[in-house]
Amino acid sequence: MPKNIGDRFLKKIADRFKACIRDADILCRIGGDEFALLVPDITNLNDVDKIARRIIDSFKQPLTVSGHKFSSTVSAGIAIYPNNGRDGKSLLKKADIAMYKAKEGGKSNLQYFNNYLSREINLRNDIKKDLKNAIHNGELFLCYQPLIDAKTKKTVCLEALIRWKHPRKGIIGPVEFIPIAEETRHIISIGEWVLKNACKQLKEWHKTGRTDCGLSINVSAIQLQQPDFAEGVIRILLETGLLPKYLMLEITESVLIESVYNVKRNLNRLSKSGVKISIDDFGTGYNSLKYVQTLAANSLKIERTFVFNIKADINKVIIDAIISLGHKINAEIIAEGVETKEQYEYLKEKGCNIIQGYYFSKPLLPEEATEFLKVNSN
Ligand code: C2E
Ligand code: CA
Repeated sequence: MPKNIGDRFLKKIADRFKACIRDADILCRIGGDEFALLVPDITNLNDVDKIARRIIDSFKQPLTVSGHKFSSTVSAGIAIYPNNGRDGKSLLKKADIAMYKAKEGGKSNLQYFNNYLSREINLRNDIKKDLKNAIHNGELFLCYQPLIDAKTKKTVCLEALIRWKHPRKGIIGPVEFIPIAEETRHIISIGEWVLKNACKQLKEWHKTGRTDCGLSINVSAIQLQQPDFAEGVIRILLETGLLPKYLMLEITESVLIESVYNVKRNLNRLSKSGVKISIDDFGTGYNSLKYVQTLAANSLKIERTFVFNIKADINKVIIDAIISLGHKINAEIIAEGVETKEQYEYLKEKGCNIIQGYYFSKPLLPEEATEFLKVNSN
C-alpha cells in the first residue's frame, strides 16, 4: 500500500462530499471518520432530505485512491436548528445521537434526531452503568419456560430466561439489556451466572423426582468466542453434579455464520462431552444448511415468526421443510411461540417433536415451575 493512503482516502471523501453541497455549506472533519456538515438557510425540510440522500448515494460508487478502489458508506445523523438545539454544541450532540441510531439501522442510512432517541440513549447509558453491579446486587433472576413433548404433552426440558429487577426501573427484559451486556462484554459473567444458577435449580427439581427433565440455556456469540468457554461449562456441570446430557445450549444461526476457531472448538468439545446443541431461531439465517451439516446439531428450533403466521402458505412450506430437514439429519424439531391449539395441532401433525409457547405455559418463576412440574408429571 502506498504511504499516506489513509490521508488521501479522507481527502477523496471530502471531495465527494463537496460535490454534493453548495458553496455556502460548511464541511469539517470532526473525528477519525466523522464529518460535520452545516447547511444554513434551509426553508424546506425536504431539501435537507435531498442533500443527505445525495451524499449517501454518491458514496455508492467506490473511491479510487492511488489506483486502488475502496468502497465506503455514509450514515447520516441530522439535527435541525432551532428545534433540536440553539447552539453548535447541542446540535452536534443531537446529530451524533441520531448518527449512532442511523448506524444501528444498517449501512447508508439517515436518521433525524428526536426526543425518543435522547431517552433511548439515556436509558442505554443507565443500563450500561447499572448492569456492572446487577449480579453483585442480586438483581438478576431466572424464569423457566417448559418445553413440551408434542405427543405425550409432558415437560421434557425447561428454558432458562433471564430478567433484571432494576431498583428504579422495575423489571427489564433480556431484549433490552442482553445486547448492551454483549457490547460491554458483561455477558461473560452474566452467562456464567445463568449457567450456575440454572444448573443448581435443575438439580433441585431432579431431587424431587423429575429426573426426566432437561435444561436449556441461551448462549451469546461473545461467550462462545471465549477460548475457555467449554471448560467453564464442564466445570459448572461438575460443581453442580448435573450430567451433561441434561444440558442443552441454544445458539443462534448468526453465531455459526460468523463462526471463528474458538466457537467451533468450544461446540465440538461440549458436543463430545454429551452437552446438546440446539440452533435457535432456525430459518432466519441465510446460510443455515451448511452449518447444520458441519455442526451436527441435536435440535432445531423453528423461529417464532413462522409459527405466528402459520396460516400463510409460505410459512407452512418453510415449517414443513425445516421439519423434514431436521428429521433427515436426526435432529429434533422444537417449535417456539406456540400460542394456539390450531398451531399446536398443525405442528404435531407435521411431526414437530417439542412445543414451547404460551399455549402450554409462559415463562415461570422457579416456584411456579415447581408447581407446573408437579401437575405435569409422568
Ligand atoms: P428466545 O431465545 O427466542 O426466547 C424466547 C422468547 O419468546 C422469550 O422472550 C419468551 O418469553 C418469548 N415467548 C415464549 N413463548 C412465547 C409465545 O408463545 N409467544 C410469544 N410472542 N413469545 C413467547 P424473553 O424471555 O423476553 O427473551 C428474549 C430473548 O432474550 C431470548 O429469545 C434470548 O435470545 C434472550 N435471552 C434470554 N435469556 C438469556 C440468557 O440467559 N442469555 C442470553 N445470552 N440470552 C438470553
Ligand atoms: Ca432460546
